[in-house]
Amino acid sequence: MKTAIYPGSFDPVTNGHLNIIRRAASIFDKLIVCVMVNAGKKPMFSLTERTAFLARVTRELDNVEIDYADELLADYARRRGSCVIVKGLRAASDFENEFQMALINKKINPSLDTMFLTSEHQYMYLSSSTVKELACYDVDLRDFLPEEIIPDFKQRIRAVKEQGGNIHA
Ligand code: ADP
Repeated sequence: MKTAIYPGSFDPVTNGHLNIIRRAASIFDKLIVCVMVNAGKKPMFSLTERTAFLARVTRELDNVEIDYADELLADYARRRGSCVIVKGLRAASDFENEFQMALINKKINPSLDTMFLTSEHQYMYLSSSTVKELACYDVDLRDFLPEEIIPDFKQRIRAVKEQGGNIHA
């Protein structure tokens, strides 16, 4: 059985992420979508909220599991018995960073390979941070976020703004 891992921040999951999840799930027997704790980022949604959003939007995908991890991806992959990491590539700017991470992961865990799925054109510009920017304006978010999470997303944006917080953090 071929298991792949799709890691990320997913703060929150976008239609671009979901597109990669669907495509990877159709290639591998099992796909583990793993929310990674990143000490360098201050997320808008907690780990529990991000995993709950992912579970909500992937519930019809039988071979997709949602998990989270606070350890090195290479170690997590070894522990979960997977030798393939899936990454989405939007533009050349993603490539350099992802290529470096793929090499580091392979150095730490030599049996681990990284496979890249290119973004579909309608999602190339899409990132979680772009959606947070757009949420400040009166924009229909359905092109960017799965419908099931839009009400919760908007509520959080409103709450952050009411508290004078920074949505770009
Ligand atoms: P971001 O905060 O940049 O959206 P994440 O850490 O949540 O990034 O992304 C996890 C993975 O999903 C990365 O491999 C990233 O390149 C990929 N990804 C993010 N958005 C898209 C998209 N719109 N199309 C394809 N891949 C994407």
